[in-house]
Amino acid sequence: MDVNKIREDFPILSRKMNDKPLVYLDNGATTLKPQCVIDAVCNYYTYLGANAHRGDYQMSAQVDEAFENARITAQKFINAKYKEEIAFTSGSTMGLNEIAIMLTQQVLKSNDVVLTCESEHASNILPWQQAGIAKNIQVEYIELDHEGKVTIEAVQNAIHDGVKIITLAHVSNVLGFEAPIEEICKLAHEKGIIVVVDGAQSTPHIDIDVQKLDCDFFVFSAHKLCGPTGVGVMYGKKKWMDMLEPVFFGGESNARFNKCGDLILKESPLKFESGTQPIEGVIGMAAAMDYLQKIGKDNIHAHEVMLKEYFLEQVKDLDKVIIYNANAKSGICTFNIMDKGKMLFAQDVAGYLDSLGIAVRSGQHCAKLLPDILHTPGTCRASFYIYNTKEDVDKLVEGLKNATIENC
Ligand code: PLP
Repeated sequence: MDVNKIREDFPILSRKMNDKPLVYLDNGATTLKPQCVIDAVCNYYTYLGANAHRGDYQMSAQVDEAFENARITAQKFINAKYKEEIAFTSGSTMGLNEIAIMLTQQVLKSNDVVLTCESEHASNILPWQQAGIAKNIQVEYIELDHEGKVTIEAVQNAIHDGVKIITLAHVSNVLGFEAPIEEICKLAHEKGIIVVVDGAQSTPHIDIDVQKLDCDFFVFSAHKLCGPTGVGVMYGKKKWMDMLEPVFFGGESNARFNKCGDLILKESPLKFESGTQPIEGVIGMAAAMDYLQKIGKDNIHAHEVMLKEYFLEQVKDLDKVIIYNANAKSGICTFNIMDKGKMLFAQDVAGYLDSLGIAVRSGQHCAKLLPDILHTPGTCRASFYIYNTKEDVDKLVEGLKNATIENC
C-alpha cells in the first residue's frame, strides 16, 4: 500500500490547521474524501441531473443506470446474495431506526426482549428503547468482559426464552473490538433469534461477507468509508426484505393506491426508498467502494493495525498515557492523559492537540453507557485510516508528551 500516493488522492490533506499541516485522526467520526468521490458527486450534478426511477427520457435513464449500478457495487461490497437485499438509507442511524421500528411493530410481541450491550453507539440503543415503548419491549445488556469486549460466553449467558433480537456493533466505535458475529448468529439462529449488525465501524476497515456472517440485517454509512455524508445501506436477508412493510411511505415506493387507503407496494428494495433518494450520494458511495476495493480491505486493516502498534510502542514507556484498548486489533486508540497525578479532561487534550494541527475525537463518542464501565467520564480517540502515516503518529505522540495541566 503506497500511502504517499493515496495521500495525493485527498485534496483536503493539503490544508493547514493552526498553521500546521493537518493530521486527521478522527476517522471513526468520518473519513476524508478522495478526488474520485468528489468527481463522482460533481459529475452527477454537472452531467446527469435528473431524478432516479421517474423519467421517460434519456438523461433519466442514465441516472437510473448509475443508481442501480451503485446498488450492485454495494451488494458486492458486502457480498449480499441479491441486490434486492440492499436498500439505500441516509446512514447507519436511519437504517437501525427503520429496522427497530419494523421488527418491533411487525415481528415482536409485548414483553419480548432485545439484547444489546453497554458499549454500543446511541444509534443502536435508542431506536430499540424508543420503538419498544408502545409494546413494552425490554432492552437488556450483555455483560462485557474486563476489556469491554462482547464474548460468545456472555451472549450465551444473556440469552433466555424472551430474547427475540440481538443487535450489536460489528466493531465498537470506542474500543475497536470486533464482536464474534458469525458465532453469535449461529447461536442465535438455533434459538430463532434475529441478529442485527451495526457495521458502521467495520465496513470501512475489514472485509464484509454478510452471507458468511449470516446476520439478518446489516447497516453502514458511506461517509465512514470515504463516501459522501447522508447516505448508507440497510441490508436485510431477502426473506425479511420481502416480508416487512417499510416505515416510510410516499413516491416511488408504491405500485398503486386509492383514496380508501388501499396500497400496493413495490417489491424490495424500492418499497424501502420512498421519496427522492440522495442520488449523488449513492453514486459517490459506489465510487468510494470501488476506490477501497482497489486498495484492498486486507491492506487497509493491516495498515491501521500497524499504525496502532507503532503508537502503542511509542507510548509504552510514557506513564502519563493510559490506554483503554491495547488489545483491540483495529486502528482505534482510546486513551487519557495524566499529569501531576491528575487525569486531564479529554476535551482539553483534544483542544491542545488541535493547536498542533492534530484532529482527534474526545468525550463519550456517542456511547454514553460506556464511561461507567471504563470508570472515566470521557476519553480521547485517535482513529487511523488509509492516508495516515507513522509521521502522523509521531506528531500525536509528541503532542501527548507535551500535554500538561498548564497548556491543556
Ligand atoms: N454506529 C456506530 C458504531 C458508529 O460509530 C456510528 C457513528 O459514529 C453510528 C452508528 C452512526 O452513524 P451515522 O451517524 O453515520 O448514522
